[in-house]
Amino acid sequence: MLPVVALVGRPNVGKSTLFNRLTRTRDALVADFPGLTRDRKYGTAKYEGLQFIVVDTGGISGDEQGIDVVMAEQSLLAIIEADVVLFLVDARTGMTAADQGIAEHLRKQEKPVYVVANKVDGIDGDSESADFFALGLGDVNQIAAAHGRGVTQLLQSALAPIAEQFPDMHIPEESDEELQEIDADEQLANLQALPIKLAIVGKPNVGKSTLTNRILGEERVVVYDEPGTTRDSIFIPMERDGREYILIDTAGVRRRRNISEAIEKFSIVKTLQAIEESNVVLFVVDAQEGITDQDLSLLGFILNAGRSLVVAVNKWDGLNKDVKEEIKRELDRRLGFIDFARLHFISALHGTGVGHLFESVQEAYASATKRVNTSMLTRIMDMAQEDHQPPVVRGRRVKMKYAHAGGYNPPLIVIHGNQLKDLPDSYKRYLMNYFRKSLKVMGTPIKIEFREGA
Ligand code: GDP
Ligand code: GDP
Repeated sequence: MLPVVALVGRPNVGKSTLFNRLTRTRDALVADFPGLTRDRKYGTAKYEGLQFIVVDTGGISGDEQGIDVVMAEQSLLAIIEADVVLFLVDARTGMTAADQGIAEHLRKQEKPVYVVANKVDGIDGDSESADFFALGLGDVNQIAAAHGRGVTQLLQSALAPIAEQFPDMHIPEESDEELQEIDADEQLANLQALPIKLAIVGKPNVGKSTLTNRILGEERVVVYDEPGTTRDSIFIPMERDGREYILIDTAGVRRRRNISEAIEKFSIVKTLQAIEESNVVLFVVDAQEGITDQDLSLLGFILNAGRSLVVAVNKWDGLNKDVKEEIKRELDRRLGFIDFARLHFISALHGTGVGHLFESVQEAYASATKRVNTSMLTRIMDMAQEDHQPPVVRGRRVKMKYAHAGGYNPPLIVIHGNQLKDLPDSYKRYLMNYFRKSLKVMGTPIKIEFREGA
């Protein structure tokens, strides 16, 4: 599990600037689901050896009226789901009434809150941020988000108190290759000893809970494990074809009393945590609605997390032949970037096609945890190199020397050689496909890491 860090503050204090620095990306997952606020952004932060989920809550001013109150409440939900709150204020403009309004709200929450005075570049940070001590939320941390100043220190102080609760937030250090292969084997042995964690993920109303119920209706459910808080998914151990699974139910099947609760119970943090937690994601889309931008954002997140993936195109009932053909063409067009994943056309409502999903889940997991060794990977790499030589850059041919395993689920292939940083993306894609075909893996992404030198 990764901790969730919420960025809170009135508009213009520098939340997006900090968010972008932490996630190093501009394509964050934007919450734009019906019934939820639009300007909340989610991403995975990897910063100075730490990783966590970061939420930019959008602007709240603290003195909302009327409809704004509802909007602000939506934003405040993000605070409830967070493990740590970073409350940003602007050191240049000084304290405002809005800051005080937000502080008042935060003081009522039982959450660790850190006051962060941003934009201390080029000003006397100590004297400009001293005012904010009056917010009554403890020490004032000084940063310049735009330049990265103070950010590492801030994260260390904010995350240290919850480090024991979230051991996964420390990114493991890179070891040398021999150790890395041993580590990879150890990781594999651990994976094989555990049940397959299967997360059922998708937007509200695509049919997740119908599907979950359908699966559970057919299977022997061992026991339910009720979660502690609203943001947590429900973990349901079950058996299928002699294999143990843990179903990660993000739809809240157990606690939901009616359909209209679907949106209320939908939580992006919950979805992201479930993806991080899982081995395989069963991603559900609504055939009748088509692929939306939100589906693509969620898929992008699943891909980045390196999870194995099976796509269930649900509500395949009651469509005529022409419409089905049209939907298939659209899926081909928009889902090219996850061409490693199998697609199943199902009806969770009627049960059609549901049984076959598990064949692909098994296959995806088997692919993600298939042991590979140095000689095998190096041989495949050599064949790829013979079939299609890497380019000559600045008069020297890029040379790949050997490859070894760096991890599983997803399979990580580490390639050593000379001038590898000059390899064009097209060649990397060629290699990826070559490995994919030679290793016969399906349903999992493959990651390749390049290391300079032998
Ligand atoms: P948000 O509305 O809270 O998300 O704020 P933004 O991240 O959009 O930042 C608002 C403005 O403050 C932008 O013009 C940023 O360039 C600027 N800004 C953000 N961080 C810093 C900083 O560390 N130093 C200075 N001088 N300006 C900053
Ligand atoms: P969730 O929010 O993703 O958990 O979605 P639900 O399982 O609550 O389903 C949302 C709506 O879609 C409900 O009205 C379901 O009856 C309907 N639904 C779910 N699966 C199917 C299906 O396979 N076919 C059709 N026609 N409707 C479905």
